[in-house]
Amino acid sequence: MTRQSGSSGDNLYALAFGAHPDDVELSCGATLLKIIAEGRSVGVCDLTKGEMGTAGTPETRAAEAAEAAKIMGYQSRTTLDLGDSKLFYTEENLAAIIRVIRQFRPEVVFSNPPDERHPDHGKASNLVTDAVYYAGLKNLPTALDGIPQEPHRPRHLLYYIQFRHLEPRLIVDVSETFETSRRAILAFSSQFYQEGAEDEPQTLIKRKEFLTGLEARARYFGEQIGVVYGEGFINPTTLAVNSFSGLFG
Ligand SMILES: [Zn+2]
Repeated sequence: MTRQSGSSGDNLYALAFGAHPDDVELSCGATLLKIIAEGRSVGVCDLTKGEMGTAGTPETRAAEAAEAAKIMGYQSRTTLDLGDSKLFYTEENLAAIIRVIRQFRPEVVFSNPPDERHPDHGKASNLVTDAVYYAGLKNLPTALDGIPQEPHRPRHLLYYIQFRHLEPRLIVDVSETFETSRRAILAFSSQFYQEGAEDEPQTLIKRKEFLTGLEARARYFGEQIGVVYGEGFINPTTLAVNSFSGLFG
């Protein structure tokens, strides 16, 4: 495990998991920026190094992820090595995710959605969903650097929306932060379209239209709630309303 910033035991308000480096920025980056702007701490955990990607190497992807983290202002970015395209449901993989949850003790966890085009995304969703629950069991021991960890169960789990369309249960107004999230996405320069690089081999996500499509969706979700840009989420659990006027204005 490599940790690019932050230190052991740094509590976070929100922790966003992604199967591959860039999943988080592509799908919920503008929401994470909004949370940070509200004065809360945010961290990211990439479950794999993205070594099976058609474009880029693990080294370039690590450098890009670090650059994106700088633009985003994360408190920490943790990169696990659970195996790109080998993200199987094993006790070891589950324990690795539980360790990260117990280390950072987030209130809110973001995850890949369960139904997705890339099989790793669904597998990551399964693992993170179960780890969120199991991390709260006191009779399930884990240790970090040889030190036993305390149980911790995050209060909320939200699935972001990726390639496949899902009808969001909630949409966050990200009009103020959308442009900065685009800069973080473009920091993954080996993965996405760059001006003047048309001669490079094109993948589905490297076409110019992929970025246009992302913006179109953000505008569509924004339109649903009467703002410019929105990011949509699915929540597997019922949300409690603590402040009625905080939610409904
Ligand atoms: Zn991915």
